[in-house]
Amino acid sequence: MRAETIAIHAGNLYEISTQDVTPPINLSTTFLRNEDGGYSGGHMYSRVSNPNRSALENILTELEQGADCCAFSSGNTAGMSVFQAIKPGSHIIAPDDMYWGFKKQLQTIFADTIAIDFIDLTDLNLIEQHIKGNTVMIWVETPSNPLLKITDLKAIAKISKAHGLILACDSTFASPCLQNPIALGADLVMHSTTKYIGGHSDVLGGALITAEKNEFWEKIRNVQQIGGAVPSPFDCFLLVRSIKTLAYRMRGHSTNGMALAQYLEQHPKVAAVYYPGLTSHPGHETAKAQMRDFGGMLSILVKGGAPEARNLVNKVKIFAQATSLGGVESLIEHRASVEGPDTKTPQNLIRISAGLEHIDDLIADFEQAFAQI
Ligand SMILES: *Cc1c(COP(=O)(O)O)cnc(C)c1O
Repeated sequence: MRAETIAIHAGNLYEISTQDVTPPINLSTTFLRNEDGGYSGGHMYSRVSNPNRSALENILTELEQGADCCAFSSGNTAGMSVFQAIKPGSHIIAPDDMYWGFKKQLQTIFADTIAIDFIDLTDLNLIEQHIKGNTVMIWVETPSNPLLKITDLKAIAKISKAHGLILACDSTFASPCLQNPIALGADLVMHSTTKYIGGHSDVLGGALITAEKNEFWEKIRNVQQIGGAVPSPFDCFLLVRSIKTLAYRMRGHSTNGMALAQYLEQHPKVAAVYYPGLTSHPGHETAKAQMRDFGGMLSILVKGGAPEARNLVNKVKIFAQATSLGGVESLIEHRASVEGPDTKTPQNLIRISAGLEHIDDLIADFEQAFAQI
């Protein structure tokens, strides 16, 4: 089945006596045992599993063409569960522009247990040079945040397999409808479901999908169930509901993202546009090969510096000045001031999450804002 069909049907896992077409929210924290002590409903205690979470995990497994999924209370806990499952003393390779929350985790929470090299993963030779005896994982993020760098998943999977490493991919910017890293050779896919999968800026969550149920995956499942950073049944219900329209939302986000990128690329007050759909983007050909479309995320460099960039985000009216991405409403933010004083993000960089409003209104909003700066 195709993504549109899976998204609508793969969440309907269990039969309910009231013949519901859509699964209800199951708030029970505990489930009845049989006379023989077993659990005929398949669930025992809600931290371990819950019908709404199983529905969400089932859809994401199918959409990512994987073998299993663990859902978490946030994208950050999804990533953290991977790092917790890694044996202390190991070394991992991660992108130099890794999502800043994960970089922070690795530099603080895991500073004493995991060694890391942050490198430019678009340079394949650099990866080979950094693989050591204790290297266990290559963590990729594509498209990356906030520079929209594209990493060649197939090429890195080859390197990773040759060295017996785990290849994990943060695929949040693409969503399961635009890119399936497992089909390209990745072992693990990570999503912040807070973003496109949720799609309405009203639920926080994360997920990991594995290509194979192996020993490392069992460790992650253990961290999820015993660590307990699980999403609530209501959050899972919201995500299952959102996923039903994901494929159609991604088409809209991609159409608006491309139109905004093309408009901004020719604007005299813009110094650069980072969007993988533009032929001027260095990762365009790779993106075309490994993605179905280019998504709704783009970043621009405003001519001038931080004052000009901040002025622009203050002048737009439809775009909400807020962090995060992937919702139906367009968002805009001055990224460096979100990431703090030690960020490498250019001070004149603006990150845009193209929403699903009419493109003419979005462009008109930029026109009036540029006219004032
Ligand atoms: C938001 C985000 C995360 C973290 O997810 P949360 O749900 O905010 O914890 C990780 N990676 C990327 C690329 C993100 O955009």
